[in-house]
Amino acid sequence: MNNFDSEPPAFPSWQARRLRSRLDIAGIRGLTAQSVLGGVAVPPGDTLTLTCPGARIGPWHNEVIHLDGQFLDGRGCKLLPGFIDAHIHGGGGADVMDATADSLEAICRFVAQHGVTGFYATTVTASHADTLAAVANVARFADEARQTGARILGVHLEGPYISPQFPGAQNPAFARPPSIQEFEELLAVGPVRMITLAPEEAGAGALIEKALAAGVRVALGHTAATFEQTSAAVDAGASQATHTYNAMTGLHHRQPGAVGAVLSDDRVYAQLIADGIHVHPTAMRILGRCKGPARTLLISDAIRAAGMGSGRYDMGGLSVIVEDGACRLEDGTLAGSVLTLDVALRNFLTATGWSLAEAWPVTSLSQAQMMGVDNEVGRIEVGLRADLTLLDAEAQVVATIVGGQLAYLRDTWRLRQTNYELDNS
Ligand SMILES: [Zn+2]
Repeated sequence: MNNFDSEPPAFPSWQARRLRSRLDIAGIRGLTAQSVLGGVAVPPGDTLTLTCPGARIGPWHNEVIHLDGQFLDGRGCKLLPGFIDAHIHGGGGADVMDATADSLEAICRFVAQHGVTGFYATTVTASHADTLAAVANVARFADEARQTGARILGVHLEGPYISPQFPGAQNPAFARPPSIQEFEELLAVGPVRMITLAPEEAGAGALIEKALAAGVRVALGHTAATFEQTSAAVDAGASQATHTYNAMTGLHHRQPGAVGAVLSDDRVYAQLIADGIHVHPTAMRILGRCKGPARTLLISDAIRAAGMGSGRYDMGGLSVIVEDGACRLEDGTLAGSVLTLDVALRNFLTATGWSLAEAWPVTSLSQAQMMGVDNEVGRIEVGLRADLTLLDAEAQVVATIVGGQLAYLRDTWRLRQTNYELDNS
């Protein structure tokens, strides 16, 4: 029986708005072998159905079969592994530093609207007490299993052990030399997975060693390090650059700086804020050429103002003014972004001239490999978690699936239902 060739009814927007967080998706229909990016062992064909029984990616079907449940209509779309953001402070009016479950929930829901299925909750340079509270809150939130929308994959500590010369919009009042004791206390209260630090600060070497021993990734950023200091930190195990180009020493042809070290060393992952404000499109293109998709990490570095429009917002005790899509302190310093990863991906495609088929790892697989979770997410492979992002032909997000459940559905998109499981209350 062919249920799929006839045009399915449009999914009424009032129902889309009332989607409960736990809406199981039985699969996606109408895919082709070419429309699946990041797929492993995708069968040939142009009427593919991908099933997601439970939280995992299930078998492919290449014939029209009748299955109960709710199916997304993937015709004309691209299916990608769910986006992962390694550097995000907030969005939808909420910030990780609020240290409340409500704020984390708001961020999880907000980013899911932009294709994100997992992220590192990122702190800012703040007092030890405030950072402890934020990290402990992430741990509590995970325990409560209250998460709806995207999943929190851990904590990224941005600072506080950064260079006072390159604070960017981190509050310089709280920038300080590395403290093993503070770091151990942070490890003890929550899932710290990454730390951004300045490797040239006294004591940074010991902290890098401590972090790596604890399984915490070390990212270099907000740093005055020279080329030589940056390379030495990479030799010591640092593996990533935080928002490459921004808040680090630039590339001069006789002093290649941190940027020169990052772009020339294949061991290093390079984060990029692809908003066209932090970094010129040509610099994005240079980064793409140097690092390739496997070492490029698009990040949002978004703050609570993301999705909220122009106005004045708090970030780590500093006042941030959002205007024309740029976030700045009173003195004009760029202060995080209102970027979302879907927009970042479109900007990056434009800047590099890459096709989506070439570029897709920069929002998922590269992050999953960097985080060491690529046995769970980052590809579309039977048995992996059903964390998926469906884009239309313009690379706009149609739907976001987290663990086999619909976390976001664009109002007007087609969801074919053979069973009604909606809460209409
Ligand atoms: Zn940041």
